[in-house]
Amino acid sequence: MSGLTSRKNAIIEITNRAPKVCEMPGPLNKIWATDVFNLAAMEEALSKNTFKAIKKTVQTGAPLDPAKADVVAAAMKDWAITKGVKFFSHIFYPMTNITAEKHDGFIIPNSDGGAITEFTGSLLIKGEPDGSSFPNGSLRMTNAARGYTAWDPTSPAYVMHTANGATLMIPSVFMSWTGEALDKKIPLLRSNKAMDKAAQRVLSLMGETDIGTLNSSCGAEQEYFLVDEHFANARPDLLLSGRTLFGAPPAKGQQFDDHYFGVIPARVQVFMQDFENKLYRLGIPAKTHHNEVAPGQFEIAPYYEAANVAADHQQLLMTLMKSTAKEHGFLCLLHEKPFAGVNGSGKHVNWSVGNATQGNLLDPGSTPHDNLNFLLFCGAVIRGVHLHGPLLRAVIASAANDHRLGANEAPPAILSVYLGHQLESVFHDIKDGKLLEKAKGGLMDLGLSQILKFERDPGDRNRTSPFAFTGNRFEFRAVGSSQSVSGPLVAMNTMLADSLNWIAEKLEVSMANGEDKTAAVITVLQELMELHGNVIFGGDGYSSEWHRIAVEERGLKNIPTSADALPAFKEESVVELFKSTGVLSPAELASRFEVYAEQYILSIEMETNLVVDLASTRIYPATVGYLDSLASAASNLNGLDIEMSHNSIQEIASEANAMMASVRKLKKAISVEDFASIEKHMNYCAKTLCPLMLEVRSHADALECIVADDLWPLPKYQEMLFIR
Ligand code: ADP
Ligand code: MG
Repeated sequence: MSGLTSRKNAIIEITNRAPKVCEMPGPLNKIWATDVFNLAAMEEALSKNTFKAIKKTVQTGAPLDPAKADVVAAAMKDWAITKGVKFFSHIFYPMTNITAEKHDGFIIPNSDGGAITEFTGSLLIKGEPDGSSFPNGSLRMTNAARGYTAWDPTSPAYVMHTANGATLMIPSVFMSWTGEALDKKIPLLRSNKAMDKAAQRVLSLMGETDIGTLNSSCGAEQEYFLVDEHFANARPDLLLSGRTLFGAPPAKGQQFDDHYFGVIPARVQVFMQDFENKLYRLGIPAKTHHNEVAPGQFEIAPYYEAANVAADHQQLLMTLMKSTAKEHGFLCLLHEKPFAGVNGSGKHVNWSVGNATQGNLLDPGSTPHDNLNFLLFCGAVIRGVHLHGPLLRAVIASAANDHRLGANEAPPAILSVYLGHQLESVFHDIKDGKLLEKAKGGLMDLGLSQILKFERDPGDRNRTSPFAFTGNRFEFRAVGSSQSVSGPLVAMNTMLADSLNWIAEKLEVSMANGEDKTAAVITVLQELMELHGNVIFGGDGYSSEWHRIAVEERGLKNIPTSADALPAFKEESVVELFKSTGVLSPAELASRFEVYAEQYILSIEMETNLVVDLASTRIYPATVGYLDSLASAASNLNGLDIEMSHNSIQEIASEANAMMASVRKLKKAISVEDFASIEKHMNYCAKTLCPLMLEVRSHADALECIVADDLWPLPKYQEMLFIR
């Protein structure tokens, strides 16, 4: 089918399509977590003793003895078989943002030609998927060593139903035979441990006893676009790169803001219900959904959970979102910037730390004592963002997210912290020494929970900040919609661990010198503010004035592209940060830089090839066809009309020629192969290939506005954004 007919056909198909009918399962309490082997299911399936052991492992990460693992494995298998499962799979998260799985059967043939099912503790605990094609950043030679997956009992196993049957999915880590992390889960678990250890140290100094294991929590708000599959199928750029590489802006974009929080289109509502029912079965607490700013854009936010489980659930949510959208005739776009000129998609990562006994340490609480702990943890975050802003920028770096950051719809590429007016003035009073005098008298009631209360209203929040305090948590807003939340969570937990250790050392010294607890806290925070207060910013993050002040007066870094951002992984301070906290060894960190840099280069090179292909084989031929018809029409005209038509023929021809000249430049640029380093290669992509792609696009988009509509081969923005 030619591009032309498929575009027109798409509109007819979509207009005549009836929404998919979905079975409505029973009430929420009947479907909630029915496919999850969670603690409740384990309690039912296991003896008291075994359950106690596994519960301890789940809640504190304590090791499980092999005999008990055998019992758990057998119970897990029996439970899964009642759900129609024949296969199991260790599911893991390689250094790319994807989710990987390898399926194995439970079945073992016996000598009399029959078959039994078997699943032992050792099969549960360790898998050997090999997975030698996953990028590993030189950590293992493919011919020398295999990769292993190992069960992560702190994230529950579950049954995944697909049209091809049901599979028991076992959340796992992925490592080399020497135990080096090849995935996104191992560092997350380690970072949580480092944070816990440092937090214990500070809380003990604050006089807490019986603290319990501390955990980080995450609630991720996911933005996405839905485009009808008929349009998507006629747009190779959407299918292959997840974004439109061409497309003139429509007469109507998002300027009316009439989509934001508007009525959800009927077809999308049916999709959301179907999708959320699947999430509920898997124990993923979907909480809110609504339209987003751009036409065709939506958001879903689950309730927050322990960071490790939230990260697994986030990956599962993305997988299910794409597959369910497909069942409803949509392509779900998780790309950060599918359409130029309208908002892109982000993933706000809401993050806090705490536990049942300590509560949320980023919540100011109601007693003076709670206030002090809160100020310390909040101060630790401020120090972390100041010291490690470039690292935070690096963990969200990707070719796709570069289109969004700093584009006046998403946070700027300068990492600053927004505290809100009231809290900011508390920290400034600390810095100016105003609180130290008061503190010397002993426990000081700052009444923080009172004064911060009214700032929790979302209306008051500063949407232009990449890193904002939102009442009882921090919200990292610069994370991209397609990214795994693990990278950001690892960076945040690790910098918090490092800052808490710094604070603990200072407190230890002050307290050893006989300073009272409150005064010691205020003293360390005063020093912290002296050194790091510069990172706090409450104004308009989009303004050019801030961009100037941030860099010239505050000494913060503006890091526009991933090519500039990723080398942060090689900075001495970052290597030391991860090494000292035990989160990533220098070799593991170096491998991450290599993998992310390679991903960046590959995605830009793939896009350049697509640009050349689409411009040459679709846009240029359509334009020539139009010129042809104009020329034959002109031969039937005379006088003024001829002149007019000659002018427009000339305008179109020169635009088409200019486009092909840019295509030739781009083609030549792609053929450059020798780069002295991977950094130079990334820079070449950012500074040479990206601008050339835009050059081709500007001519193509100009042509889209003058070539007759019925000859244009690619579905247009107004169709993809408004027809569903
Ligand atoms: P908004 O759009 O105003 O930022 P949403 O309600 O859409 O708010 O999303 C807020 C997200 O933050 C939800 O996922 C929510 O569960 C999560 N969240 C709330 N409190 C915490 C917390 N203490 N720690 C981590 N995440 C939290
Ligand atoms: Mg938010």
